[in-house]
Amino acid sequence: MGSLYAVNIETLNGIGKKRAELFNKMGIFSVGDLIEFYPRRYENWSVITPLEETEDNQTVCIQATVSSHISSVRTKGGRLLTKFSAFDDTGAVEIIYFNNKYIDTMLSYGATYLFYGKINRTMTGCQMISPMFSKIGNSNGMHPIYKQTNGLQNRVIENAVKTAISMLPQVINDPLPEIIRKKFSLCDYEFAIKNIHFPKTEDDLQMARKRLICQELLILMLGMNNLKNRDKKETSLKLKKDYTEEFYSLLPYTLTNAQKKAIKACVDDMTLNSCSMNRLVQGDVGSGKTAVAAAVCYNAVKNGWQAAFMAPTEILAEQHYQSLSKLFKDENITIDLLTGSQTPSQKKKVREGIASGETDLIIGTHALITDKTEFKNLGIAITDEQHRFGVAQRAKLLSKGKNPHLLVMSATPIPRTLGLIIYGDLDISIIDELPPGRQKVDTLLINGQIRRRACNFIKEQIKNGNQAYIVCPLVSESEADLAAAEEYAAELMLKEFSDIGVGVLHGKMKASEKDAVMKKFEKGELSVLVSTTVIEVGVNVPNATVMMIENAEMFGLSQLHQLRGRVGRGKNKSYCILVSDNGNPDTVNRLKTLCKTNNGFEIADADLLQRGPGDFFGERQHGLPQLTIADFADKINLEISKEMCNYFIENQDEFSEKEINTLNACVKRLFNKGGNNIMN
Ligand code: ADP
Ligand code: MG
Repeated sequence: MGSLYAVNIETLNGIGKKRAELFNKMGIFSVGDLIEFYPRRYENWSVITPLEETEDNQTVCIQATVSSHISSVRTKGGRLLTKFSAFDDTGAVEIIYFNNKYIDTMLSYGATYLFYGKINRTMTGCQMISPMFSKIGNSNGMHPIYKQTNGLQNRVIENAVKTAISMLPQVINDPLPEIIRKKFSLCDYEFAIKNIHFPKTEDDLQMARKRLICQELLILMLGMNNLKNRDKKETSLKLKKDYTEEFYSLLPYTLTNAQKKAIKACVDDMTLNSCSMNRLVQGDVGSGKTAVAAAVCYNAVKNGWQAAFMAPTEILAEQHYQSLSKLFKDENITIDLLTGSQTPSQKKKVREGIASGETDLIIGTHALITDKTEFKNLGIAITDEQHRFGVAQRAKLLSKGKNPHLLVMSATPIPRTLGLIIYGDLDISIIDELPPGRQKVDTLLINGQIRRRACNFIKEQIKNGNQAYIVCPLVSESEADLAAAEEYAAELMLKEFSDIGVGVLHGKMKASEKDAVMKKFEKGELSVLVSTTVIEVGVNVPNATVMMIENAEMFGLSQLHQLRGRVGRGKNKSYCILVSDNGNPDTVNRLKTLCKTNNGFEIADADLLQRGPGDFFGERQHGLPQLTIADFADKINLEISKEMCNYFIENQDEFSEKEINTLNACVKRLFNKGGNNIMN
């Protein structure tokens, strides 16, 4: 099988350059890829419904004999209409095709076929419009339906897959060792592949599915295991003294009990254990995670270690840099900032400080994990908004020290099963308390027609000395988006907010430009900040009281909740206005969840329920490879796969070298798919 990944699909019969490009568009490059391109669903042609039992609007497979000549006429509109009747033992049906020149050459009078399609029942009888058909005996099983793209129909994909399967070698290296298959009652690979595409029965299909799901999850877990592989490492880094009390005295406010508990857990981890800390601090937006990170950094630096604090965006990194610099200004701590958009000479200078040990606390973006950054004695690595980083990036940061401690922080509550995979070996602290005095953010859902009223409301808020964020319409995550942000802001400045300071912020701006805009907004020189979702994480301006989000239906609930978390940070009442012209009841209901609750965990649950785990993190925000058939919400198979994974790891001597290599090759392939290169 392995070698089929090296065979270009263009070598398949019937696939030329054009079609190959369409396949490429769907991520299929090799014959091996095609074999792993599983159907999205199946049409069941094995159950034949007698005509008299069919119901209006029901999709069925009937077996009927053509009982009239197949004749075509042109309609007034110029369409070709082909019509004939057919019958079975229980009734008759009229079958109609539009604009299909070849129908009369494919079907013949007096012959019997299977027709698959939707039944229309009227007073005068029943009809099927453009049903699929097949000769009896040719296709009486389950019919695979693949994801399609413009110009590449199901029939073409199906035929290509058939050819691909016929190329499977005589002897296939099964990715699952036989011992594992037997132990967990899973079918072999060849059966699985043949039956996932062309199952004869529902049972065969389920057997194939189960085997392939478990295989994929096992491969995923083995990969994650390789990535972690630092589990429980001895460390010589232990805090000699606890500086938490001193830290408290630097703060302008008193920490909540939940914050204190999280800090204590971290300090204990770094004092009492002989292994390095692996802790996740999870807390809703605004729960004050930064203070926990600051306390940990303070303890580390006072004990003579270096600390690294990594954030997913430059804005957030800069903000952390500023707030920690302010907090530690009299503490004789050298703090520095490293981001991608600094000039090469700036970066060089910052990196020299880190390498020499001159810098105690470094805050930065992904720039921290590039090979050029070296530490003298990294004691603790912290990642903020962990869900924005890949697992591999976390590992990379850790590799900058000798078994340093790790603290990861996240505002996105994740389902437990998924958490087990991503965070597997982490201890968890939950901050389930907001700082005192926070008010609930009132959330409204409106349509575009009353946007003007919403703008008037914003103006009033501004008159009262407050500020507002507007998240502009999302076109796509591309260059066009930026133009959209700028255009949208320009329009606002010309119309609604002509006498008000409006700033624009988007991801492609230079750091210095972003910085300038942010500073003006923080100082109150700008009243409205129009932005793409770059403000989603972290940004903190307590004076802002309105968050208006255009095209709210395009966001996940958790993401909207994060955006909303930008307001309600000061003493004034705050509002979140969701603008959506999408009247779909499901969408409206989904958005209304936000109007009803401010609880991040509740919202995450609703999000998961309504959108499914695949979309949970938005586009690939969990940093895991993309799965083809398994599903993170599939608890049963997750458990089975976990057991398989443990068995495989603990009983290595039961497996041949070939079996181990075959499975490892699969791990590599899954993690490197789509140019991911997580494993390299
Ligand atoms: P998040 O958990 O979303 O990262 P932040 O750490 O940004 O939250 O904190 C949000 C705001 O709350 C900041 O302005 C911070 O100074 C403030 N804050 C944090 N903890 C407390 C507290 N115990 N009392 C009052 N204000 C707090
Ligand atoms: Mg934060």
